[in-house]
Amino acid sequence: MQSVAAETSAVSDLENTYQLTAADRCDSCGAQAYIRVDMPSGGELLFCAHHGRKYQEKLSQVATGWHDESAKLNERP
Ligand SMILES: [Zn+2]
Repeated sequence: MQSVAAETSAVSDLENTYQLTAADRCDSCGAQAYIRVDMPSGGELLFCAHHGRKYQEKLSQVATGWHDESAKLNERP
């Protein structure tokens, strides 16, 4: 298990080190976020699994990165 600090400012190893936490909330409904979308502006959007899928078709055309941790929903702690 990795321990994830509240601040994830390191940008060197984005592929596997970035983890969404319970503190990350869906921008649409406020549920726990499982999907992070990197935008060309440098910003990011957070979505729950439901809204991630809902907006994926639209956002995937402009997003520069798509970080999906929704598989966690099927895991037991
Ligand atoms: Zn949502």
